[in-house]
Amino acid sequence: MSESEKRTTALALYPESMNEAASLLKQALPLMMRHNIPPNPVHYALWYTYSKGQEPELNRHLDRAVEDYEQFPSESATRLFREFIIPDELEEAREGQRQAIELVDGMELTVNNNLEGNLNFQASLGQYLEMLEAPVEERLPSLLAELQQSTQLMQAQQQVFLSQLHAAQDEINGLRDKLERAQRAATLDGLTQVFNRDTFTRLLEQTLGNAPGRVALVMLDIDNFKQFNDRYGHPLGDRVLQHVGQLLRNALPPHAIAARYGGEEFCVILKECSDIDSVYAFAEQLRLKFRSLRIKARSMDEVLDTITASFGVALAQTGDNVESLVTRADDALYQAKRNGRNQVQ
Ligand code: GH3
Ligand code: MG
Ligand code: MG
Repeated sequence: MSESEKRTTALALYPESMNEAASLLKQALPLMMRHNIPPNPVHYALWYTYSKGQEPELNRHLDRAVEDYEQFPSESATRLFREFIIPDELEEAREGQRQAIELVDGMELTVNNNLEGNLNFQASLGQYLEMLEAPVEERLPSLLAELQQSTQLMQAQQQVFLSQLHAAQDEINGLRDKLERAQRAATLDGLTQVFNRDTFTRLLEQTLGNAPGRVALVMLDIDNFKQFNDRYGHPLGDRVLQHVGQLLRNALPPHAIAARYGGEEFCVILKECSDIDSVYAFAEQLRLKFRSLRIKARSMDEVLDTITASFGVALAQTGDNVESLVTRADDALYQAKRNGRNQVQ
């Protein structure tokens, strides 16, 4: 998987920037250390989300758990992880998560058994020491033999544990790949590899909620695409859409999100943007890039055709929701079509 694709996947679940994520982690780690929370991925995810503060219910649970228990109970962690961290809509991903949780539960059992083994070992060491205080010359050889046997048993247990750990690591790597694939499938449009419409709606809703005054939307629609399909056939039309997806992914500034809204209509959410002139300039750059696309048949160097697209841009205003913002950008796009296409409105 390429770096930019990985970034896209991670964005879908954790849309924070690198800096925001680092600062959240910086908040989460001291909390975990303060409350003596063992550092494993389930706990990281919980305390990271805690620091984000977007799941007040989860924060209440965690506050209560660290208050009520001296040792944060692992079954609570697993339950909270299932309830708050795994997104409902990712069926296949959830299956992967379930397997990961089972695996972690299994490992935990092994660790606990091992701990028990260690405790037994320590207890018997204590007994031996007590016995050694009494006169023991004649019993010493048999005591030493027993001690040696226990030590060997412990070593064997550790060995088993280590090999289980390695096997689990391999399995976790496989599951992580599977999860990533499932997440990609659930959030991306298969043909163009930009976000699908559901994800677009969810992310725009989230962005408007976080920073209503600093969001802009660009909607674009390929001009006369029906004619293009009629002339060259749908397979070439599909390849044009794939190129458009690639063009959008490559043209995105930091914090921007591209999605396929439907058919040959795409949109870009620009975060951290409150200036209509820069939105317009960005859309104008995109328009020129569309116009520079050279459409060739697979087996030929000869350029068959070019395409153009029309653009509508809108800045979010106080009180905007997904529907109202999309409607304004779409109205502007319609205006661009009416004014002769291949332009930004
Ligand atoms: P306009 O400039 O007004 O947008 O004209 P248009 O022909 O692009 O618009 P219209 O909405 O009439 O047609 C959209 C066309 O886009 C219809 C369909 O052939 C094509 N299209 C939509 N989705 C796909 C797709 O997944 N693959 C291909 N090849 N074509 C698609
Ligand atoms: Mg069109
Ligand atoms: Mg259209």
